Amino acid sequence: MPIYEFRCEDCGRITSHFTRKADASLAAPCEHCGSADTRRLVSSFARSFSRAEVLERYGDPGTDGSATDIRDPRQIGSWVEKRFDEYGIDMPESAREMIDAAREGDLPDPVKNL
Ligand SMILES: [Zn+2]
Repeated sequence: MPIYEFRCEDCGRITSHFTRKADASLAAPCEHCGSADTRRLVSSFARSFSRAEVLERYGDPGTDGSATDIRDPRQIGSWVEKRFDEYGIDMPESAREMIDAAREGDLPDPVKNL
């Protein structure tokens, strides 16, 4: 099932939208402030930025010898960047912004609950 993400032009937060079919013209209102002024993002990475889902997708970072502590937001950024680099994937804009925000101390909600 495709997952679309929308960045709110008013409050800047991300809304995830699940849909049964791909539709390039799909639009969704902001779930945070209700604004209809949203812009679709290209990736679905940001919604998966919880510890459990990251571990499921990429494996436990503690077992590969790098011993990074992903509870440290700066280490989350480094680790994710390293994984993207290893897989030869361009960092999605939403992930890039989330990492930058984490480095500023503004953790995404799933990370706060670690
Ligand atoms: Zn909003």
